Amino acid sequence: MILLIDMDDVITDFEGEFIEKWKLCYPDKPYVKSGDRRGFSIIRQYPEEFHGFVKRIYHDRNFCRNLPPVDGSIEALREIQTMPGIDAFICSSPLFPNFTNSTLDKFIRVKNHLGESWVNRLILTYDKTVITGDFLIDDNPDIIGSSTPNWEHIVYDQPYNRNSKTVKRLTWKNWKKVLSV
Ligand SMILES: [Mg+2]
Repeated sequence: MILLIDMDDVITDFEGEFIEKWKLCYPDKPYVKSGDRRGFSIIRQYPEEFHGFVKRIYHDRNFCRNLPPVDGSIEALREIQTMPGIDAFICSSPLFPNFTNSTLDKFIRVKNHLGESWVNRLILTYDKTVITGDFLIDDNPDIIGSSTPNWEHIVYDQPYNRNSKTVKRLTWKNWKKVLSV
């Protein structure tokens, strides 16, 4: 089984860190709480006049490098790595169009959180539909690209993707049951 695993809001807590930074940088400005987010894009949750504030946070030089792991993700990936019959890769897209910081930081985070053995299992692409695999675990419910993917999409469950019609969904609490391993 080739397993492709997304990074932001699946392995690393992008949204949680974004909210923490927002509260620090803009204590007087309202923000969208995790459970209140509707839709995949964080920036689209905010009115136009806030977009500069949003971008300033996640394009900051240190933002991507210091993202904390999602609960249970490190333990799950370490266990997946030991399982015969599973070949797992991290499959992630850098921020766009300002990709400079996030690209390098994804490699550094994988090394720091998971170790060198995962660094050469990191696939960075803006088109996940051309990557081969049996399953893709991703919090984005609508993954589009240039091809018809040969993987089955398993949505990583988050409050903002619960209106998705995708059949399978999992978290790091029930992944073994959903994947039947
Ligand atoms: Mg993601």
